[in-house]
Amino acid sequence: MTPSSIERPLLRLEPGRHKRALAGHPWVYSNEIAMGAAVKALAPGTLVALESSEGRTLGTASFNPHTLIAARILDPDPAARIDAEFFARRFVRAGALRDRLYGAPFYRLVHAEADGLGGLVVDRYGETVVVQITTAGMNRLAGDIRAGLAATLAPRTIIVRRDPAFEAEAIAPGLEIVSGALDGPIEVIEGAARGYADLTGGQKTGWFFDQRDNRAFMARFAPGARALDIYCYTGGFSLQLAASGAREIVAIDSSAAALELAARGARLNGAEGRMHCVRAEAFNELARLAATGERFDIVIADPPAFAKSKKDLPVGLKAYRKLARLAAALVTPGGFLLVASCSHNVGEAEFAIEIARGLARAERTGRILRRAGAGPDHPIHPFLPESAYLKAEVLQLD
Ligand code: SAH
Repeated sequence: MTPSSIERPLLRLEPGRHKRALAGHPWVYSNEIAMGAAVKALAPGTLVALESSEGRTLGTASFNPHTLIAARILDPDPAARIDAEFFARRFVRAGALRDRLYGAPFYRLVHAEADGLGGLVVDRYGETVVVQITTAGMNRLAGDIRAGLAATLAPRTIIVRRDPAFEAEAIAPGLEIVSGALDGPIEVIEGAARGYADLTGGQKTGWFFDQRDNRAFMARFAPGARALDIYCYTGGFSLQLAASGAREIVAIDSSAAALELAARGARLNGAEGRMHCVRAEAFNELARLAATGERFDIVIADPPAFAKSKKDLPVGLKAYRKLARLAAALVTPGGFLLVASCSHNVGEAEFAIEIARGLARAERTGRILRRAGAGPDHPIHPFLPESAYLKAEVLQLD
């Protein structure tokens, strides 16, 4: 290990292990790096210069000797300055894409590796941004991230959430308002609807922007429809359906706080008379609705991850099957069903199979109209297809 020109430790890969990084893959695994004692002693998140075993430069990376993904490449230049200006350039590029996509500044501004910033997520809610840091490398750069945001978006309020994926990231989880102030839930504009997001107490960073295009798709069926939104959270789908002319919406969630915001959202869209928020456990409520003969023209089932880890997969797959079965039973003939999964561990093909099995158990069939993932403000790095976590399937049932 020798210092590079920018006073940065120089790390070498094991012989023959540089090809992926050279081709633009942003990760290097710990067993691919020559790990001497000095390398192992580097503090988690240290910026390093990477080289192949023969000395070909691979770039600047943040390094953590304790994680399986040991190096995350930030720039192909091994002497790149990783400072506020570096972040500002990435934020400008990411923001320009989003501003071409959307008419209002409510979106995921930075989606980790696909925006050149592994370990970092930034969601924009107008004048307020929520920064989510998941790695030691990004944590050490938190000051530059904040300065880069101030120099580009100049947001009124910056919230930083630390959600380490692993203990080895050595980050204390927590939430901090690092500039400005926050006065209760924030109003979100999405397409024709408006809603509320709780940026400090909510899930993710407060609003699931990833479902935007799937919501817009379902909204095409909304005029005059009676809809059921299971796992509604703060009403992402319900409010979109309401704004597009649904006759009645039943929105179910187990969280009282989420339902309260969903109900406030209904008022914001002038839909309070048409949207009913019900606190219940989803599977129980689906069975109860079926038993009482209730039917809906649109059923949305966007649950929390049923398979959070690989070992949960068999149980998780069964849960998706059961959800599809119970939800399908409530769809009127000719009606529409959306089932989604945000489990990283469930593949698109496996998910589709479980939905088909659920339909068969419910003795329903129909046609698949759409299979989609997250919207384009959640882009996917071309060499990390496995990072595409969201799957949504829409069917019309006979
Ligand atoms: N569809 C929402 C996001 C759903 S997030 C949107 O578009 O914004 C998952 C939601 O499921 C959370 O709000 C959580 O409170 C709820 N939830 C988790 N387990 C549940 C259960 N067993 N029954 C009902 N709701 C549940």
